[in-house]
Amino acid sequence: MSTIKEFHRQSIDQPDVFWAEQAKLIDWETPYEKTLDFSRPPFAKWFVGGRTNLCFNAVDRHAAKRPDARALVYISTETNEEKSYSYAELKREVERTAAIMQSLGVGRGDRVLIYMPMIAEAAFAMLACARIGAIHSVVFGGFASGSLATRIDDATPKLIVSSDAGMRGGKAVPYKHLLDEAINLAGHRPAHVLMVNRGLDPAFNRVEGRDVDYATLRQQFLDAEVPVTWLESSEPSYILYTSGTTGKPKGVQRDTGGYCVALASTMKHIYCGGEGETMFSTSDIGWVVGHSYIIYAPLIAGMTTIMYEGTPLRPDAGIWWKIVEDYKVNVMFSAPTAARVLKKQDPAFMHKYDLSSLKHLFLAGEPLDQPTHEWIMGELNLPVIDNYWQTETGWPILAAMPGVEQTKIKYGTPSFPVYGYNLKIFREDGSECDANEKGIVGIVPPLPPGCLSTVWGDDDRFVSTYFSLFREPLVYSSFDWGIRDDEGYHFILGRTDDVINVAGHRLGTREIEEAVQGHSAIAEVAVVGVADPLKGQMPMAFAVVKDASRVATAEQRLALEKEVFKKVDESLGAIARPSRVHFVTVLPKTRSGKLLRRSIQALAEGRDPGDLTTIEDPAALEQLKQALGV
Ligand code: ATP
Ligand code: MG
Repeated sequence: MSTIKEFHRQSIDQPDVFWAEQAKLIDWETPYEKTLDFSRPPFAKWFVGGRTNLCFNAVDRHAAKRPDARALVYISTETNEEKSYSYAELKREVERTAAIMQSLGVGRGDRVLIYMPMIAEAAFAMLACARIGAIHSVVFGGFASGSLATRIDDATPKLIVSSDAGMRGGKAVPYKHLLDEAINLAGHRPAHVLMVNRGLDPAFNRVEGRDVDYATLRQQFLDAEVPVTWLESSEPSYILYTSGTTGKPKGVQRDTGGYCVALASTMKHIYCGGEGETMFSTSDIGWVVGHSYIIYAPLIAGMTTIMYEGTPLRPDAGIWWKIVEDYKVNVMFSAPTAARVLKKQDPAFMHKYDLSSLKHLFLAGEPLDQPTHEWIMGELNLPVIDNYWQTETGWPILAAMPGVEQTKIKYGTPSFPVYGYNLKIFREDGSECDANEKGIVGIVPPLPPGCLSTVWGDDDRFVSTYFSLFREPLVYSSFDWGIRDDEGYHFILGRTDDVINVAGHRLGTREIEEAVQGHSAIAEVAVVGVADPLKGQMPMAFAVVKDASRVATAEQRLALEKEVFKKVDESLGAIARPSRVHFVTVLPKTRSGKLLRRSIQALAEGRDPGDLTTIEDPAALEQLKQALGV
């Protein structure tokens, strides 16, 4: 067994040899002729000439060998349903859905937009697209009509698959209603809308001729057999729009063969999940983690995957751990925000269940702070692995790789560059940083298999967005700050666009946040740059205090604000001192735990905060407005 270092070095120095080995983890209909074509940088084509299919690798090959093995478990604590599908059953359902899609005129290369809650039919729809070579574009169910319309116009789907409603916290959330609004707003008109009627919103509107009913059509295609459509490795499998935390969403286009190989390799080397084991990812199919680690990767590896509709706290804070016990979950994947939510609950909920099947817990999506990392690792008494990646990459850029080598887990760091990523930390002039020197996390292309092959319909935007950081060298910019310590561990220090300019001084909002957090009364803080006629920009802070009684009165708030100013002055200098520190009890974050920084900034500048439908707690918005007096 090689060490992580050797493994990584081989992937960079001899990519052909390295990836040829990984490519054996999947089934190919036609072997590839060339591992990599990088004749037109930064565009990389992996496994050129090879033909394969994601659905075949995720479903058919296991259904043939282990038809009765459990493939998919759907659990809803919203509708109180629990249903398992064997690989054979999953294959049947996928074929039925594929036949329905074909009957609606969907074929290879056509786009299918999926706007659905976390129900098994959503998985069938994704896999059915993959089966027939259609390109799915899943849009997170929390997005409202405006965001959905933008995505409809960009992806121009022939078909939209949707549902009457989702459910969250026991309340029905109408989907069809929003979808109709979005289609009205959009310039593009899909030919059909395939509706999975859950009976949650009896009043949903049916558009004659356009809307068709899934259950009725399924009945017609009960015995359908739909052969897989073999795709050339570089043909697109899906489009997934980035969350848009920092701007207009980009349609990340994914290939087929490279993605399949990359996912298979991560299950072996990073997530350590194998045939017959069970994976539970608490994400949503609307996010990249859902694509990769709820649907494709666990199935490609022949595992059982769990699709969970519900919150971590209902019926109580033990629900995730109950699922782990009930299904003997071996690999679990969640987000730091969820860990922080659980940290506020009684740990007895966790200890009530037998968690001995669990090998690792993986957390990704945002920085995992040291106290939370330490806490959850202590409570679970197993390795909790922070991994850093992006919608663009589809799989981890930085992670510990217990399948390659057991390395020490350091709190607050996603550890090491993953094989395939020639990751470097750059100064702004394009030279490389030394150890312990903060810089921009970049990847020297080619990007490894499975990363975005382009921005959907816009090659120029792919190059100008991601590869124009320096004239020389050609580098993919992550737009994140990072630092590497003496032992090679990497830390992510926030986003490069979080930099603000105060009277000509460039300040990182993250650094100011750390300084504010240095005050013992502060639990959490968001700092944004707000336009200022004199100084260009001024930092403004929104802070959550640990003990609300400290900010009960106006005098107390003023006094604490002063103390915070002092703290910032001491650690960064008066130049970084926020114009104001507003005290709130909750910060606006997306359900995936990302701070809605752009919205906070927009509100603070008196602008429209944009689409806030993915906000976790709407009260956060109200508090913000109140604090700002808008
Ligand atoms: P957009 O690119 O549209 O603004 P987004 O960047 O929020 O949206 P994602 O691709 O979901 O959309 O998020 C990737 C980003 O999340 C990373 O670039 C990084 O800033 C952050 N991130 C992800 N995982 C980690 C992690 N383990 N540690 C620190 N930051 C992380
Ligand atoms: Mg991003």
